[in-house]
Amino acid sequence: MKAALLESPGQLVISQVLDPEPPLKGLVVKVEACSICATDIKMFRHGQRDLIYPRILGHEVAGVVTETGTGDIPFRSGERVQIAPGITCGKCPACQQGASNQCDHIGILGFTHHGGFAQYLAVPAESVACGAVNLIPSGLTFVEATFAEPLACCLNSQELVRLDSKDAVLILGAGPMGCLHTMLARAKGVRKILLAERSLKRLMMSITAEPSRLINVSKENLKEVVKEETEGRGVDVIMLACPDSAIDYPILELLAPRGRVCFFSGLPPEKSQLHLDANFLHYREITLVGAYGCTADQNRVALELMASGQLNVNWLVTKRILLEAIHEGIGCLMEHSGMKVVVTEF
Ligand SMILES: [Zn+2]
Ligand SMILES: [Zn+2]
Repeated sequence: MKAALLESPGQLVISQVLDPEPPLKGLVVKVEACSICATDIKMFRHGQRDLIYPRILGHEVAGVVTETGTGDIPFRSGERVQIAPGITCGKCPACQQGASNQCDHIGILGFTHHGGFAQYLAVPAESVACGAVNLIPSGLTFVEATFAEPLACCLNSQELVRLDSKDAVLILGAGPMGCLHTMLARAKGVRKILLAERSLKRLMMSITAEPSRLINVSKENLKEVVKEETEGRGVDVIMLACPDSAIDYPILELLAPRGRVCFFSGLPPEKSQLHLDANFLHYREITLVGAYGCTADQNRVALELMASGQLNVNWLVTKRILLEAIHEGIGCLMEHSGMKVVVTEF
């Protein structure tokens, strides 16, 4: 079959590889849509903590079951499925506590196992057993279903930072994730949603996410706008949805008492050391929380949210491409010409 294989950072090659055999108690899925994620681009450019080479990338994936392995499997050929990328054990303390994205034995499709930028995807038995394979609700397209994973990552982080309808939230970064955060916060009825961005292209596109206010940080003073929008109090939650935001902005000064900050984006290693005033955290009872990935359950909730019509993601799709055009897709995202590029022809 045809696949986009990352051999080492910068070496992404369209290759012919062996068709996957159905794993025992697993599945083979014919990939119908797989979205390019910022993490794929990071892996392509620099590598990533959990990535093992050579690797077929792609973890935002939807398709049709074509083969099932031997054993008792709750899926049949022809069923439309979305696959949460985490391959988890179900037994370790993290899994038992419902935090399977922190599983002691985690594998990840597109990171430690081959992912969806290929004609076929082997879904291991562990994925089936841990509930990572979801039937796509009948009203949703394959392309929409690829948003289940990024939306689930937003759900995970908004849960961890305890975002509530009474909050004022500042989302830094109006890329696809910042926009999904905005739409999810709106679906939750969050009182005030400020979305900040410096790229004019992204500001123009993100209007459709309908935040309470879009802030152009290359023109407006972020601190002043936050003050103005919150009666001088500051925001309750800051969601860092861009890899530069933690150092480029005086985040603590923007927070109300008991404010919470979520480190949703990973930061480049040279920027990941932060200097924070511990006394500021102490006196104002500030919470800092990290968020990484999502659970299988959160993928299911994300699919239901989209199927219920509470959240329409189609406007985020800038381009649908052939697998062979994956470099072009990556280029489009790197220069911020688009929000989401989805491989739909393999
Ligand atoms: Zn992703
Ligand atoms: Zn586990």
